[in-house]
Amino acid sequence: MLAFLKGTRLYSIFNNVCPNCHVGKFYIGKQAYDFKHFGKNYEKCSNCGFVYEKEPGFFYGAMYASYAISIAFSVAIAVAIFVLFPSSSYLVYIISIVLGLILLMPLSYWLSRLVWLNLFTHYHKHKENL
Ligand SMILES: [Zn+2]
Repeated sequence: MLAFLKGTRLYSIFNNVCPNCHVGKFYIGKQAYDFKHFGKNYEKCSNCGFVYEKEPGFFYGAMYASYAISIAFSVAIAVAIFVLFPSSSYLVYIISIVLGLILLMPLSYWLSRLVWLNLFTHYHKHKENL
């Protein structure tokens, strides 16, 4: 999926793969709404052995990425309401954004940890075929 992004951080983020080699999986679950494995990731890459949690508490920083993603979702919902229902009151905007953020919370969590990890890791093509 999204093969044209291979070698970029977006490839790792949207395909749930190791940021170091783009082969091994990061999350145990297949997608963000897999509640059986919610938030569980492998300790290290199955292909290159890259340890995902660089130091204890490393993923606390993913809160910054989660904040930015939530703002992006909020703006997208507000723009959608503005375009689809131009005469809506502010209460409609607030309720829609709150409900939207609750529904999108698993996706935000999923993306934020991958974004945070990708901020500190670069892709290495030679580690792809280990
Ligand atoms: Zn890897």
